[in-house]
Amino acid sequence: MGRIQMKTPLVEMDGDEMTRILWKMIKDELLLPYIDLKTEYYDLGLQHRDETDDQVTIDSAKAALKYGVAVKCATITPNAARMEEYHLKKMYKSPNGTIRAIMDGTVFRKPITVKGIEPNVRTWKKPITIARHAYGDVYRDVEMRVPGPGKAEMVFTDAEGHETRKLIHEFDGPGVIQGMHNLDKSIESFARSCFSYAFDAGEDLWFASKDTISKQYDGRFKEIFESIYEKEYKEQFAQKGITYFYTLIDDAVARVMKSEGGFIWACKNYDGDVMSDMLSSAFGSLAMMTSVLVNPDGKYEYEAAHGTVQRHYYKYLKGEETSTNSVATIFAWTGALRKRGQLDQLPELVSFADRLEKATLQTIESGKMTGDLARITTLDNPVALSSRDFILAVRDTLETL
Ligand code: NAD
Repeated sequence: MGRIQMKTPLVEMDGDEMTRILWKMIKDELLLPYIDLKTEYYDLGLQHRDETDDQVTIDSAKAALKYGVAVKCATITPNAARMEEYHLKKMYKSPNGTIRAIMDGTVFRKPITVKGIEPNVRTWKKPITIARHAYGDVYRDVEMRVPGPGKAEMVFTDAEGHETRKLIHEFDGPGVIQGMHNLDKSIESFARSCFSYAFDAGEDLWFASKDTISKQYDGRFKEIFESIYEKEYKEQFAQKGITYFYTLIDDAVARVMKSEGGFIWACKNYDGDVMSDMLSSAFGSLAMMTSVLVNPDGKYEYEAAHGTVQRHYYKYLKGEETSTNSVATIFAWTGALRKRGQLDQLPELVSFADRLEKATLQTIESGKMTGDLARITTLDNPVALSSRDFILAVRDTLETL
């Protein structure tokens, strides 16, 4: 049988360190033998970002907007140590931040659940997908230390120069103040991305804030979600048998812990920051978490939620054996291939993506896994395989499906 043909290229964003090594192994062993892979390739490895003054990151994000589906390998976000290690011209921003800003997207993180890696929360039977609003609030705040007695006010000056003032506090001693903002436009994009993702996934959407206390600020988030739902999504949701559910953040947290899972949880920026780490650790492992950036016009960028696994890369460079988990990176590829297949009406590509995911999970369920999972599995006598041997074991399983 010939290899599966593609119509439109996937935007391929290569990356750094151990995940770059896995990237090639996955392509060579699990994709190229079966698919006549069409990609538009962008090398986001740190060295090439430096050579192009980071233009390659911008170009790759624009290509993702043009073609609609991208798959990304983990990349280094430079810090002082990396500046020295790679002799960089400057400290480039996080590629994910750059891509997110250009695509104006929302990140959805979803755990990959498999028999033998049980969530710490007993009631969770299905994955919980978390969506984090990635603009504003405390991440773009302005803060000030108040040295002593005085009056703090909030002032808004409109385009004509009219001022609106509100007293924050009359200080009679030292303290602190903080100013935050958000934009209707950004909240609207966030809401639309969440509704359309939930509709595609056929799962309920939850959103929570603290509008009883923050009546204007959080109240605005609640209003925008509600009005977009009523006007644009209510009927579609009803047809699919799914619902939109709003509650207070404290109530949401309590309900999540008692739920069975199987829904999308939209979070404000800070809540999403904190809750996504709680969820990935409670579901078992960061290495089993996928991440997809969705923009309001339905453009997608798939990746693993973890980083470049630097520690393993240094071992690899020394010629030592590594056991790095490639599952989330495999699922980034299957997510992108499935979406491309759906958009281009290529059922063979969709079913290949399904089979590769099934093969990956079956391999783990048969007891063959990487070291990180072997340490936490509830299966008896797991076999811990090297990075390459795990991928080869997945290929063996794939051949049987
Ligand atoms: P990391 O996710 O690479 O690793 C953190 C720890 O988690 C590792 O030491 C390892 O114990 C474990 N781990 C993570 N993924 C694993 C896997 N697939 N298999 C086995 N164990 C795994 O995060 P880090 O060490 O903080 O960062 C390393 C580099 O990755 C940094 O340069 C950072 O900028 C970058 N990073 C990139 C992304 C991204 O591109 N999306 C995300 C986070 C970090």
